[in-house]
Amino acid sequence: MNMEERVKILKDKIKEACEKSHRNADEIAIVAVTKTISPDKIEKAYSLGFRLFGENRVQEARDKIPQLEHLEDAIWHLIGHLQTNKVKYAVKLFSMIQSVDSVKLLEEINKRAEKRIPVLIEVNTSGEPQKHGVNPWDVSRIVEFALSLENIEVMGFMTVGPYPVDELKSRRAFSLLREIREKIESEFERRFPILSMGMTEDFEYAILEGSNMLRIGRGIFGERE
Ligand SMILES: *Cc1c(COP(=O)(O)O)cnc(C)c1O
Repeated sequence: MNMEERVKILKDKIKEACEKSHRNADEIAIVAVTKTISPDKIEKAYSLGFRLFGENRVQEARDKIPQLEHLEDAIWHLIGHLQTNKVKYAVKLFSMIQSVDSVKLLEEINKRAEKRIPVLIEVNTSGEPQKHGVNPWDVSRIVEFALSLENIEVMGFMTVGPYPVDELKSRRAFSLLREIREKIESEFERRFPILSMGMTEDFEYAILEGSNMLRIGRGIFGERE
């Protein structure tokens, strides 16, 4: 199957999940996840209309993003775990950091950023111990701290769904993130518009639970090598 065919299938499935949940597909952003994907394939995805791209490792992004500078309106998000010693590169390469999960990381981003940088707070909604992300009961504390920092703009929340994918467990994790967002919005009396949840194997459940940002790798590029 080629990329056009995969993207067609993906868009049809997104549309179907949107119809099922009475939502408009236009309100759902797709981050094309390019980890391990070569620049020529990323250019191909760009030519098919993708503008938002997600990398999960700073080192790989440092190699790849400069090779794609000619894609002037491409936007890069960091979606993978960030170590504090890599923050100085990350704030230059990325327009959004989706994987913020500690006070220490927030402090370092705030210190290194030359201007206000949009972030998402990553939440561990599945309780799987190997997963990154703050615990649901710690989100309020992290958000409160983030709102006190000059160079941090909290735009919303991100989660990685449970693995293996299971309808009940996946939907429970995604609805938990939606509920956390609602609770935090009423606590701080402001909006946090982005809910980044759903990958190739679970995006339909994420849409049903209110996601407005999907992170799709294999569903666009095929299996990673
Ligand atoms: C790899 C990755 C994705 C995309 O995974 P696919 O299953 O290829 O769609 C999404 N989010 C994060 C954080 C990832 O690391």
